[in-house]
Amino acid sequence: MKSDYICPKCNGHLRVRNSIIFLTKDKKGHSALVLLSPEVGDYSFHMHKSVEIADGEHTNFICPICYENLNTDDLNQNLAKVLRIDENGKKSEIIFSQIKGEKCTFIVCDGNLEAFGDHTNNYLDHFGVK
Ligand SMILES: [Zn+2]
Repeated sequence: MKSDYICPKCNGHLRVRNSIIFLTKDKKGHSALVLLSPEVGDYSFHMHKSVEIADGEHTNFICPICYENLNTDDLNQNLAKVLRIDENGKKSEIIFSQIKGEKCTFIVCDGNLEAFGDHTNNYLDHFGVK
């Protein structure tokens, strides 16, 4: 069994087969669907070829089921959060950057923090870590 990814607002399943599906909205209000890899540390993604998002641009990640914004307002407006339930039924928080091209993912599980990606230093202070 593979990990499930869950919306923290509605508990809806965001993973279908081998992709996590989000609705994104850029600053101009343009919406698009994005497919992310469920593998932490894999920053490849898929969008329709008509969608153009510049490197460094902030897009809001939104649950495609309940339309709630997945921002972590308590941490940083650049970061979004989903829940992951792994093959053993263990629940963790997956926190990732909404900035195009910024590679950073945090896994919070039982109060422990794991950081992945080249740009995690930009955010570590939000977790009380230097
Ligand atoms: Zn939802």
